[in-house]
Amino acid sequence: MNIAILGAGQAAASLAARLRALGHGGPITVIGDEAAPPYQRPPLSKAYLLGQMDLDRLTLRAPDWWADQNIALRLGETATAIDRDARVVRTDRGEYPYDRLALTLGARPRRLPAAMGGEMPGVHVVRNLADIAVLRPALAPGRRLVVIGGGYIGLEAAAVARKLGLAVTLVEAAPRILGRVAAAETADMIRDLHRTHGVEIIEGVDIARITGDTAANGVALADGRHLPADLVICGIGVSPETALAEAAGLEIDNGIAVDARGRTSDPAVWAAGDCASFPMSRGRLRLESVGNAIDMAEAVAANMLGAGADYVPKPWFWSDQFDAKLQIAGLNLGYDRVVTRPGANGGSVWYFRDGGLIAVDALNDPRAYMIGKRLIEAGRSPAPEAIAEAPDLKALL
Ligand code: NAP
Repeated sequence: MNIAILGAGQAAASLAARLRALGHGGPITVIGDEAAPPYQRPPLSKAYLLGQMDLDRLTLRAPDWWADQNIALRLGETATAIDRDARVVRTDRGEYPYDRLALTLGARPRRLPAAMGGEMPGVHVVRNLADIAVLRPALAPGRRLVVIGGGYIGLEAAAVARKLGLAVTLVEAAPRILGRVAAAETADMIRDLHRTHGVEIIEGVDIARITGDTAANGVALADGRHLPADLVICGIGVSPETALAEAAGLEIDNGIAVDARGRTSDPAVWAAGDCASFPMSRGRLRLESVGNAIDMAEAVAANMLGAGADYVPKPWFWSDQFDAKLQIAGLNLGYDRVVTRPGANGGSVWYFRDGGLIAVDALNDPRAYMIGKRLIEAGRSPAPEAIAEAPDLKALL
């Protein structure tokens, strides 16, 4: 059986490795449009952006590994079409026949429209190595950075830039930072952390436009303020890469729609990672995280070989900002109650839905994270009061 994998990021690397580990001996071809072999993305807004990690460590597998595993890497090739009738992927350089195809295409950063200055020189996004190659040299001490968007990309990039000695202002249009992903209690801790380190955070104000003639020189806010800037980073979310799948007639629903086993509306085509949405008890879900890219890709690899097992996500996330570590276990979707526990340099925020524990955010509190993760994965749920008041969390296990 000839397997092609389209997209060459974390999900592709995990999927290909798992296919071999499970004994698939047939051809595997991984096709990607970036020049670099599959690499880790999380450090791009953390240690790698800071200059504390080199490319070798970012790379997921040494070049020899791909050869040893007899996995063909076709890099720097842009796919132009998936011909499902002929079972062929077409690229700008060639054609790759497949018996089974996995789509691990990821997501692309949203940009502000050109009419708002979003495509001017000096406006950066943080998604791939090419983005960092232009951003990193621009992060020189004393320069002024405006970050648009208070999600993890914006916050992590702001922390790196501050560490490198830039003057940093972050603007979030929503009433508060981390609105999509975390409770107000977590956002409060993160806001305090940034303000302590000298980042100015402006919330609840829309962007009017990025200003400048030939390059960005500031950001005009809807309330009339103008923030001068030498560079701008946009961290305003990502859109799943669905264009090829859509053009091929595959079902799209907030990403490439797959069933519980990772199969798209075409039984020969599968999808995993940021680009794929899968069914869950509470509707369709698409998870943008490296943990999901790895776990879902491994589940899909097994199912491509006939395992027939549903994918059950065990979500976990982390974020490094300044010297703080935020760890998150579970999914807080639809939470209706939150309790907090203070910690030495942070604390933990516990999310409940219908009386059940569903997620925990822990800032500089690895113990709370570990205990919360174990409780959530075991489906156990102490009362909110017990979590808030227990002298020792471990007693709840
Ligand atoms: P994100 O989590 O969607 O956050 C984007 C933020 O920008 C949101 O708060 C959004 O507010 C805001 N925003 C949107 N349009 C805006 C505008 N015009 N002006 C000002 N603010 C605006 O996405 P992200 O931070 O760009 O990150 C991209 C993806 O990478 C996400 O999936 C993220 O979770 C992932 N990532 C994860 C980590 C980690 O886990 N440590 C680190 C980096 C990136 P609204 O929600 O109101 O639109």
